[in-house]
Amino acid sequence: MTAGQAEFGSLQIAIDGPAGAGKSTVSRKLAESLGYLYIDTGAMYRAATWLARKNHLDYSDAEGIARLASQTDIVLKPADESSEGRIRVFVDGEEVTKAIRTREITEWTSPVSALGPLRAVLVKKQQQLASNGSAVLDGRDIGTVVLPNAGLKIFLTASPEVRARRCLIDLEKQGETAVFDELLKAINERDHRDCTREVSPLTKSADAVEVSTDNLSVDEVVERLMDLVKSRLKANKQASGQPVQA
Ligand code: C5P
Repeated sequence: MTAGQAEFGSLQIAIDGPAGAGKSTVSRKLAESLGYLYIDTGAMYRAATWLARKNHLDYSDAEGIARLASQTDIVLKPADESSEGRIRVFVDGEEVTKAIRTREITEWTSPVSALGPLRAVLVKKQQQLASNGSAVLDGRDIGTVVLPNAGLKIFLTASPEVRARRCLIDLEKQGETAVFDELLKAINERDHRDCTREVSPLTKSADAVEVSTDNLSVDEVVERLMDLVKSRLKANKQASGQPVQA
């Protein structure tokens, strides 16, 4: 049993939403507060895209990309100072934490992640990683496909303008230059592709709680999610007849 399980109990938490809604930062901090495992599934799709590019595979080669991903170790490790708050990502031992966040990989990841055979490979890995029961997963299809029975499902949103502003700040931090209007256009296009693709489109699960992050700081969002987690764990205890503290 992990320290988090001992203190809070066990829960699989699914956090979905569009790019730039703040999922990664909030999910990582929530997992840290709970002592749970954090799985950034977007980082896994980015790593698979980086791998495909490195091997000169085009996204028309769905089976080739899926085969390559299934034969490769994609490992997520906790963030440290070198990764500026992002979880660290390794592909067959090579660190790609920064390489998977460039604009080029971001743009390529959307069509690559629409490939059904690759999704089958990565969804299986994600389900295995989450199987100990105390995990926070963020992505686009966690509540609908990866963990349809998750104990708590959150759908994080923010307006496209706020999301484009956050992307601009992120890119500038990495030393890339970007134009706000171009980022806004790219975000709208990416949303459209993620929401309309045939396999696992981005949709809010009927039983997800929607939280808008437009006017909230990261800590305020984490606090709100922490309240949702605690009340869900309390309800679960009550339902199973265990004693609940007032
Ligand atoms: O979350 P992040 O922006 O890093 O994800 C990068 C891309 O990976 C998304 O735009 C989306 O196309 C894809 N993705 C996905 N399913 C997930 C997570 C990410 O299709 N579960």
